[in-house]
Amino acid sequence: MIDFSLTEEQRVCRKLVRDFAQKEIVPIAPDLDQEQRHSPEIVKKFFEIGLLHYAVPEEYGGAGLGSLEGCLFSEELGAACAGIAACLGGNILGLTPLLIAGSPELKEELLTKHASGPNLGAFCLTEADAGSDVASMRSTARREGDEYVINGTKHFITNGGVASLYSVFAKEDPEPGYKGISAFMVPADTPGVKHGKKEDKMGQRTTDTSEVIFEDVHIPARFRLGQGRDGFKIALMTLDGSRAGVGAAAVGIARAAMEAAVDNLVEPGDRVIVGVNGVFGTRLVDICGQRVQERREERPHVVRAEVCDRLEPRRTIDGRRVCPRHGGVAHDLPDRGVALNHIDFLLDGVLHVIRIARAGHGHAVRAALV
Ligand SMILES: Cc1cc2nc3c(=O)[nH]c(=O)nc-3n(C[C@H](O)[C@H](O)[C@H](O)COP(=O)(O)OP(=O)(O)OC[C@H]3O[C@@H](n4cnc5c(N)ncnc54)[C@H](O)[C@@H]3O)c2cc1C
Repeated sequence: MIDFSLTEEQRVCRKLVRDFAQKEIVPIAPDLDQEQRHSPEIVKKFFEIGLLHYAVPEEYGGAGLGSLEGCLFSEELGAACAGIAACLGGNILGLTPLLIAGSPELKEELLTKHASGPNLGAFCLTEADAGSDVASMRSTARREGDEYVINGTKHFITNGGVASLYSVFAKEDPEPGYKGISAFMVPADTPGVKHGKKEDKMGQRTTDTSEVIFEDVHIPARFRLGQGRDGFKIALMTLDGSRAGVGAAAVGIARAAMEAAVDNLVEPGDRVIVGVNGVFGTRLVDICGQRVQERREERPHVVRAEVCDRLEPRRTIDGRRVCPRHGGVAHDLPDRGVALNHIDFLLDGVLHVIRIARAGHGHAVRAALV
């Protein structure tokens, strides 16, 4: 049987990132989000605890950790701030093509320098007319002697305006669609690299998502990755590796949403109200906080779980009424003064929903994000 338990080292790393995220990120995240501001300070601090370049092998100055550790970090960072999780994860995303397909010499040249400081990488694939359909990209890479000349505009690039090293996908050969795409590494200080529009986003606002423009950018031919015209494969391998981290960050976001709801709903010795009433566009906490107030005025001595009372229970597990569709957990509590141990009771129910979410029931995840 496969053992899914974490090693001691993984547990220590997770705690390190959890403590970092809660201490350094959580207090400043709301302001950064409001102002849509990238935080170089957080990048620097993450570098100082030795984890900014966690996936870079130790021989090039990184921490030499793997995907599972990356997912643990993403969950903790996502729970603190989705944008900062995207920014820090975006660094590894940008470096992955080099890790996958760079020669040892190129890694030595580019990775060692990059990993020696609080530098960010960025992955430049998407274009205005080439999102899902990567083969439609228009960026070109023309060979001139012992250089390549890159032209094109990339859209929606995480860390686009703040990275110091880009992995860039462009067509060496425009004819055969995705078969003509090659991958390159481009240092941001190369003449001709420009920053375009910064996106004004609804979420992940603490990460810089920008256009990156390449205008007659000359790079040494050795900065091409792989064998050439294999950029599509390198891009897909990179995305394969990064998607689990994106999912892990979503789990962290869901966890934080649930924890925030609990923090706002549970008042020892008072009413306990839990559940999502399904009104989109209204914050769960506001709705339930309002109800706590209403009930407190009515009958201050009673602890009672409600809200889900009026929802049809979807399943019964361990005698609890669970409404996965709405992400709520309801307990039928008697109308009597049962204050203290119901905090545990409630948390137990919330953990149960998280377990459902982790087991892959999309409804619960979605509900947690409401
Ligand atoms: C916050 C953010 C950060 C990003 N960071 C990066 C980054 O770092 N680097 C980078 O390269 N890109 C990045 N992207 C771009 C992202 O990868 C693209 O948004 C994604 O590839 C989808 O492309 P698109 O937005 O052009 O949507 P489209 O490809 O136009 O798709 C729009 C919708 O149509 C559907 N669709 C598309 N084709 C078909 C089809 N043939 N049949 C049926 N349905 C179809 C899609 O599923 C989707 O629902 C980022 C995007 C965002 C929002």
